[in-house]
Amino acid sequence: MTLRFDGKVAIVTGAGGGLGRTYAVELAKRGCKVVVNDLGGDRHGTSSSSSMADKVVNEIKSAGGQAVANYDSVEFGEKIVQTAISNFGRVDIVINNAGILRDTSFQKMTDLDWDLIFKVHVKGAYSVTRAAWPYLRDQKYGRIIVTASNAGVHGNFGQANYAAAKSALIGFANTLAQEGAKYNIIANSIIPTAGSRLTETVMPQNLVDALKPDYVTPLVTYLVHESVQDTGKLFEAGAGWYGTLQYYKSKGKVISNATADDIAKNWDVITNMAGAEYIGSITEQTGRLVEILEQHESSA
Ligand code: NAD
Repeated sequence: MTLRFDGKVAIVTGAGGGLGRTYAVELAKRGCKVVVNDLGGDRHGTSSSSSMADKVVNEIKSAGGQAVANYDSVEFGEKIVQTAISNFGRVDIVINNAGILRDTSFQKMTDLDWDLIFKVHVKGAYSVTRAAWPYLRDQKYGRIIVTASNAGVHGNFGQANYAAAKSALIGFANTLAQEGAKYNIIANSIIPTAGSRLTETVMPQNLVDALKPDYVTPLVTYLVHESVQDTGKLFEAGAGWYGTLQYYKSKGKVISNATADDIAKNWDVITNMAGAEYIGSITEQTGRLVEILEQHESSA
């Protein structure tokens, strides 16, 4: 094992089962001290119990690793970070993984379905990361992961709430990547696909069994290692496939004083993705628009 985490402390939220458990166990195997957070509720975000986190802590300890349980909901990030500080004196890695589903068609979606999803996924990632942030900044070191989803990228029937929350997390991580850069804080988003308690409701059993969470673990473990410099990126893992996703912009067309009719006339060119370009930042895109404005002015 060359990638080691000796002396480092990780918080893994929702680590009482599924993907989070595998991250916690793998990091501990590699010398990391781990806060195993899990509310221990059901997949819809109701009820709680300490048994899920305890089980994973016992698993880590019996393999010779170091871990401590935390049973707070991710909305209470201060308490989770305090568990890391009181037990291990620091925090280096935050893996925002806790999640629930409240799937229903948009027509039937209630405020509760919307609010609970945002409370756990978005407010949860915000709250835990916000509480860890001053420690990461002060020590000029941090590794942050948020867990997005293909639903957040492509949308998915019955998941308007979940898709919106998962998409929000990508913008969140990309901003932390920029604000954390000068403090050596790296933030990335991941899209996992794995059989778990969450996906067993939407996938056939044979797929749930075949898509082992352990296929995702190596990517997440690597991304929180000190050797990684990539930040503000979106990675995907599942079934043994590892890749990355980026936004590309069509070459488009500059039309001075365009009317809606001009847009209609040029629709094929505007939407043609041949020769599309990768634009890495908002600064780059604003720069392009300023150049276009200058061209308008010089041709006027
Ligand atoms: P899982 O249900 O096995 O794990 C989620 C864990 O989060 C559970 O142990 C649960 O008790 C815990 N949790 C829920 N609410 C919590 C709260 N408020 N505070 C603390 N812990 C809480 O599901 P999983 O598939 O391992 O999902 C892990 C993450 O990956 C989730 O964010 C999920 O949305 C995301 N994800 C999973 C897949 C997939 O294919 N499994 C795909 C895309 C995204």
